Amino acid sequence: MTKSVPEIFGENVFSDEIMKARLPKNVYKTLMNTIQNGRQLDMTTADFVANTMKEWAVEKGATHYTHWFQPLTGSTAEKHDSFITPASKGMAIMEFSGKALVKGEPDASSFPSGGLRQTSSARGYTAWDPTSYCFVKEGSLYIPTVFLSYTGETLDKKTPLLRSMDALSSTAVRFLKMFGNENVTRVTSTVGAEQEYFLIDKDMYDRREDLILTGRTLFGAKPPKGQELDDQYFANLRPRIAEYMADLDEELWKLGIYSKTKHNEVAPAQHEMAPVFTTSNLGADQNELAMEVMEKVALRHNLVCLLHEKPFEGVNGSGKHNNWSMATDDGQNLLDPGDTPMENLQFLTILCALIKGIDEYADLMRISASSAGNDHRLGADEAPPAIISMFLGEELDAVLKAIEEDYVYKTQTREFEIGVNALPSFPKDSTDRNRTSPFAFTGNRFEFRMVGSSDNIACPNALLNTIVAEELSEFTEILEPFSHTDSFENEVKKLLKNVIREHRRIIFNGDGYSHEWVEEAERRGLPNYPSTVDSIPHYTDEKNMRIFRKFGIYRESELIARTEVLLETYSKTIRIEARTMIQMARKQLLPATLDYIRTLSESVAVKKNIGLSSVPEMRMAEKLNDLAEAFYDSIENLETLVNQACEIKEILPQARYFHDKVLSEMERMRTTSDTIERIMPCSKWPIPDYTAMIYNV
Ligand code: ADP
Ligand code: MG
Repeated sequence: MTKSVPEIFGENVFSDEIMKARLPKNVYKTLMNTIQNGRQLDMTTADFVANTMKEWAVEKGATHYTHWFQPLTGSTAEKHDSFITPASKGMAIMEFSGKALVKGEPDASSFPSGGLRQTSSARGYTAWDPTSYCFVKEGSLYIPTVFLSYTGETLDKKTPLLRSMDALSSTAVRFLKMFGNENVTRVTSTVGAEQEYFLIDKDMYDRREDLILTGRTLFGAKPPKGQELDDQYFANLRPRIAEYMADLDEELWKLGIYSKTKHNEVAPAQHEMAPVFTTSNLGADQNELAMEVMEKVALRHNLVCLLHEKPFEGVNGSGKHNNWSMATDDGQNLLDPGDTPMENLQFLTILCALIKGIDEYADLMRISASSAGNDHRLGADEAPPAIISMFLGEELDAVLKAIEEDYVYKTQTREFEIGVNALPSFPKDSTDRNRTSPFAFTGNRFEFRMVGSSDNIACPNALLNTIVAEELSEFTEILEPFSHTDSFENEVKKLLKNVIREHRRIIFNGDGYSHEWVEEAERRGLPNYPSTVDSIPHYTDEKNMRIFRKFGIYRESELIARTEVLLETYSKTIRIEARTMIQMARKQLLPATLDYIRTLSESVAVKKNIGLSSVPEMRMAEKLNDLAEAFYDSIENLETLVNQACEIKEILPQARYFHDKVLSEMERMRTTSDTIERIMPCSKWPIPDYTAMIYNV
């Protein structure tokens, strides 16, 4: 890096600072009013902004612009138009109008739309989201946009998030007034998403059809050494990884992403990048961008960055810890308990709103982390179980107990004793950490630890915001009549006491990975949806529809459509995986096995001729032959099952069939193949094995 970090940071972003420096004062002011207060932008201002943006982008080498959106495919989408406009005498000029900045009309027919497909025509609209920054990348100006159908239904992940942020802000502002915050005009949800990923050598990757087509290994015997020694977590960075991370940081910084923390994760070849938190909207956009950059930078190092939730069986998969809080425009973090939580009534009320919300809408939180990939992690002793619960820690637990039983809890400041004179002592944190909890309080925010590594975080944050908006609005309805009266404090305490009593069951501080917890959770009546097909249908439960309707997050048609898209995506994912398995088994693995059996048999014949015994060959050939037979049957079975699944016309029964029948046959087939792999010589196995892939970078 030749320039300093502050010099390169955000150099490709049309940032606040650039806008301020380049736009006329009144234009800048109008734009800020749009960004901060959601006022609609007039066309004259839009024209001005567009022109300035174009000039800046052209200086950065851009020749094109693209609306950048997040359809329900799970990836981002872009369609590039050049700034070129014909001028007289066959010349060209570079132009960009406010209209082109604000609105685009891509063909929407090839994007998933669920049931909306029948009712909507092909036309779709993209509309500029001025609350997220535009940026230049690879010769184009990127404009973050929402994506809607001709009939006005949302077809993307950003719109519900923006709607939920508005809902949360307006309810929270009203709620906060009761606690004397007269000056707060906007509350913004914040997110810091810790991103886990794997890096493997590209040459290995290229030889694995399963990784290329599905992002995960569908075959592969466990290596003799996994993660049991815990020697990878936070281990020193090997040179190739360190170079990759340095390169990645630089690229992220240029795009205005505050990449902050990097380290090795638990599994071999697994790593993490965590940025400094920002608003949910920007955080979600930046996470999408970060994932793309991670993949592209890897290629420069002849590496492949795997973002799948479970690329390798037998070692941990990857998630995305979604750190969430709320910030006011006067600088408060609403989840900061302060030094003495018991005296912080506002914080306690918000905390109780969260407790009630997570308990009542646990299914929505579970849904927000549901995908075929993430099903492999949840409940597999490496990520939280599929059961939603909350961890609050010792101190807050004690405070809640005190409220419930009507006494005063005094916070004790405790010093941490290291027992070495030369070392400074420091105050002990009031909460320990619980790595097994799906929704854990970590001192001044909640960490939702269930989200899958490849997921768009817009969905979990939209749902969380909506849930909190609902509870805050309900609390406000109850408490507002007493606001600014002498009985306010008592009424609040009365409410909190009830909430704690009724919703205590969602709080669990023990080991979320244990079997006892599954039983205990069942006794408590907490929902347990082990797989995507179990959870997704609850999206449209009436209680959920009600809050989406109430806050205008989803129309009924939009929600039904989304449910369909999620289930269809599930079925398609399993179908692709199953067909990839069949193909690899038929074209690579079974032929290699049969070949080797032949080699063994030939050896038996040769040895017989010269009077030698050939017990090892015979035993191995026999064993392999039995396995090959089972393998062959499995391939035939799987093919039949996939075909049967494809015959099913209804969406949910089809997804269930894929889950119950196809997936289990895939597991059986893998077990057979992995057993064969363990017997076969390396030189004869046609694809790179686990040791080669995860220990070679
Ligand atoms: P951990 O020890 O949990 O792995 P990291 O430092 O890796 O912690 O990540 C913590 C994440 O939480 C960072 O992205 C950080 O910016 C984010 N974070 C901190 N405060 C807030 C907040 N108020 N709202 C949202 N995210 C936050
Ligand atoms: Mg971390």
